[in-house]
Amino acid sequence: MTKTMIVGNWKMNGTQPVARSLAEGLVNNDIIRSAHADGVQVVCCPPFTALSLVQQTIADTPIQLGGQACHHQRQGAHTGDVSAAMLRDVGCSHVLVGHSERRRDHHESDDQVVAISIAAIDAGLVPIICVGETLEEHQQGLTRNVLQRQVGILCSALGNNLSRCVLAYEPVWAIGTGLAATAEHVETTHAYIAEVTRTHGIVIPVLYGGSANASNAEELLSSEHVNGLLVGGASLDAISFAGIVAAARRKGGASS
Ligand code: PEP
Repeated sequence: MTKTMIVGNWKMNGTQPVARSLAEGLVNNDIIRSAHADGVQVVCCPPFTALSLVQQTIADTPIQLGGQACHHQRQGAHTGDVSAAMLRDVGCSHVLVGHSERRRDHHESDDQVVAISIAAIDAGLVPIICVGETLEEHQQGLTRNVLQRQVGILCSALGNNLSRCVLAYEPVWAIGTGLAATAEHVETTHAYIAEVTRTHGIVIPVLYGGSANASNAEELLSSEHVNGLLVGGASLDAISFAGIVAAARRKGGASS
């Protein structure tokens, strides 16, 4: 059964006590803990400093662990960075790559996103690669051009390895703004992404991200081309996150 994925991106939130209590909230929540029964895969991505602690808390549950970023080199003189192998070492199965906040704050380019994705795959991680247009590009009607470029580069550079990754369509204007894209925009854009990958012979799950919450999750997940959600703000509260997971469970593992 193809899985519907719900990924929580905690961003730069959570000292040790906060992270522990959030992770315990996930583990103790029946909807989240048993989500796999309906084909729903749950991944949480705490900050680096909380990875070990969260790993210990979610051990022996189906909840999986993801890093929020990693370097494309295996090791060496890269102060402040972590490698894909280090994430694997602390129990991660996934890593976010090319999140718009990384592209903005750390100037991660399309080429670096490719290199990081390769490093992640080599280390045995599943990269969740974020793509999406800025507000300005959206207003100029350039959404498809941006996606053609971002997804096209990934298809050409990664080839069949891209099928070992997950894509996340995250319109930058919808992230953290409370203004999620409409279900219609999500449907047409995800269909377009599927068209681009298909021309390269690649089939890949595509998540939607951008102000998803317990109230809009069901509608956002209603498109057959939406294989799950990447959730920022609403993943910081176990009850809100459980509401999103519940919507995914209603969709089940039936996504394309
Ligand atoms: C994100 O950071 O990936 C995200 C989707 O954030 P939010 O849900 O807060 O918009």
